[in-house]
Amino acid sequence: MTYDHSNIFARILRKEIPSRTIYEDDYALAFHDIAPQAPIHVLVIPKGPYVSIADFSATASAEEITGFWRAVAKVAKDEGLTKEGFRLISNSGANSGQEVPHFHVHLFGGTALGPLLSKKS
Ligand code: AMP
Repeated sequence: MTYDHSNIFARILRKEIPSRTIYEDDYALAFHDIAPQAPIHVLVIPKGPYVSIADFSATASAEEITGFWRAVAKVAKDEGLTKEGFRLISNSGANSGQEVPHFHVHLFGGTALGPLLSKKS
């Protein structure tokens, strides 16, 4: 899948639209999800143009990959989630319901999060 430079997270990275940013470095940007599904619901995205975790893992540099995952762990720590725990989710492709085609990790916390997936018949 080709990267769409007009996707909403690309526009947030270019500061064309605002976000409630909580952390930024050379590799990652972290901001509050606009429709939170937990008391703490943060999105962490890499700075580079990657559609999904498969794209990111295959084509980003080792420095970008390390920098990104360090940022994810730092945000979890800075949000005070390390002791009580948290959940990371990354949707990829149609079956996951991925809405924004820029690789991102959802970071959830601040309460007991319940079962991993909603039950379906
Ligand atoms: P996904 O379904 O994994 O692609 O998740 C996309 C997430 O982006 C959803 O949880 C949305 O609520 C969130 N979202 C969409 N637009 C914005 C925005 N402008 N600022 C913050 N979060 C957003």
